Amino acid sequence: MHKRLFIPGPVDVLPEVLEKMSGPMIGHRSKSATELQKSVSEKLSRVMRTDNTILLSTSSGSGLMEGAVRCFTQKRAAVFSIGAFGDRWYKMCTANGVPADLIRSEWGQPTTPEMLREALQTGLYDLVTITQNETSTGVRNPMKALMEVLRDFPEVISCVDTVSSMGGDDIPVDELGIDVCITSTQKCLGLPPGMAAASVTDRAIAKAGGISNRGLYFDYVELYKFVKEKPYQYPSTPSVSHMYAMDYQLTRILEEGIEARYQRHLALSSRVQDWGRRNCELFANPDYLSVTVTCIKNTLGIEFSKINAAMGQRGYQLSNGYGALKDITFRIAHMADMTLDEINEMLRNLDEVIAELAPTK
Ligand SMILES: *Cc1c(COP(=O)(O)O)cnc(C)c1O
Repeated sequence: MHKRLFIPGPVDVLPEVLEKMSGPMIGHRSKSATELQKSVSEKLSRVMRTDNTILLSTSSGSGLMEGAVRCFTQKRAAVFSIGAFGDRWYKMCTANGVPADLIRSEWGQPTTPEMLREALQTGLYDLVTITQNETSTGVRNPMKALMEVLRDFPEVISCVDTVSSMGGDDIPVDELGIDVCITSTQKCLGLPPGMAAASVTDRAIAKAGGISNRGLYFDYVELYKFVKEKPYQYPSTPSVSHMYAMDYQLTRILEEGIEARYQRHLALSSRVQDWGRRNCELFANPDYLSVTVTCIKNTLGIEFSKINAAMGQRGYQLSNGYGALKDITFRIAHMADMTLDEINEMLRNLDEVIAELAPTK
């Protein structure tokens, strides 16, 4: 039996989208491939609300994140971490010999504009990484306030992780002024895992041109050159199958409408947050709750693995905590093409499961 996925990626993919993956192969240097990649890029730029260049990558989002810290850091990276995925960005820096400092918030709290300003005023950094939506804690960073601080430091390149939120949350890339905005297919976009995308500014690419040891596969300058000059081609063989599915699903997303999609995610998140408050406790600061994933402190007195096993019997899969929060929290994802009816039905089952497993008083 297929379990309905309420985990923060990969998400369930609509059958009609999955079907698109089985289209016939075409040569990756063909005109058809160029047209397909152009179409995907143009749709994605509307979803991301940017006129910057879209780069597609046959990898998960981590590839483009790792490439970004290599390509855009000349002096030193300031890695702002609000959870496991922020920490991962720091590990990518150290693993690649990119000088970096880790600037952490207490888990459950956001990165603050004050923290950002204080770090940048030292003049040590020329790159910052920010997690827009931290999937491990369910915190959504205050991007508007953070990006306003960055306007005072024009020499700093901003890299923003929107892996678990682009296509669900409200993230107008150009209005915010994000240099490098990265996302993956398997979360809010409602596609199979295997591709990632980034929007990148010309000024970031110009800077990267002067940086050595950018690597090869995830070299943004090389990717950018191919997209601009060939055009819409890629240095190595991309996953044409994903492109078919992306082209179709991005049309669906644009037909639903970016604002409508955001409103739907708000409705889903407030339903799950209400459930979390009523039955347990939310992990994140209530002023910074994610609209795509809710992290709940397990105060039920029942091991989450037992709850998830019982939910599995009913055809549902939820997620345990991540990293350090593995055993003390659990997470419910509400992203991509999920409906409020589906959330309600899942929560009804969850209530029943909890009642069945509840310790007898
Ligand atoms: C899932 C996730 C990642 C990792 O993305 P992959 O596509 O699995 O490489 C990075 N950051 C956040 C916030 C995520 O949720």
